[in-house]
Amino acid sequence: MYLKSKLSKSLITFKGLHFRSKQREKKYLRHKVVVGIGGNLGDVKRRFEHLFVYFKRDKQVELLETSLILQNPPFGFLDQDDFLNSIVVLKTNLQPLEFLDYLMRVEKRFSRERSFANAPRTLDLDIIFFDNRIINHKRLQIPHISWKERESVVIPLLDINL
Ligand code: AMP
Repeated sequence: MYLKSKLSKSLITFKGLHFRSKQREKKYLRHKVVVGIGGNLGDVKRRFEHLFVYFKRDKQVELLETSLILQNPPFGFLDQDDFLNSIVVLKTNLQPLEFLDYLMRVEKRFSRERSFANAPRTLDLDIIFFDNRIINHKRLQIPHISWKERESVVIPLLDINL
């Protein structure tokens, strides 16, 4: 069940039962990571629910929080369905590049296929922030290079406690 509200002609938010960790934070997990999640193929909300269960069961991460979901139009390649985007806050002991590889494995598990830039996708996972680190590596830029310009990141971000 989601509470739906229309923010503008093209932006819709869905608020579900937010997940907040009920236990105290696992202190042995050192790093706090903000991850953007998105997709526009099939039942994306259901896939997000499955992803949350996956994170909750996985010892390598702790799921601290999930944001509202934003429905927003595609950019780049326009002839495709709207995207649904959300933000999750995770804790981990993995280092940034290891964590990127971890997310790519999760995308694969949720059968993301890489075809062309901005193509339709089942699940896209992006690291937005990793603690307060600044990283400029050929495989990884943190903070995520265009987070400030994307409604798909900024609106869900406003919904969570960082
Ligand atoms: P995309 O197809 O949009 O998911 O882009 C994935 C590619 O972006 C990967 O090959 C990563 O190496 C690269 N990348 C750079 N910075 C980030 C980031 N902050 N989070 C996720 N992927 C990143």
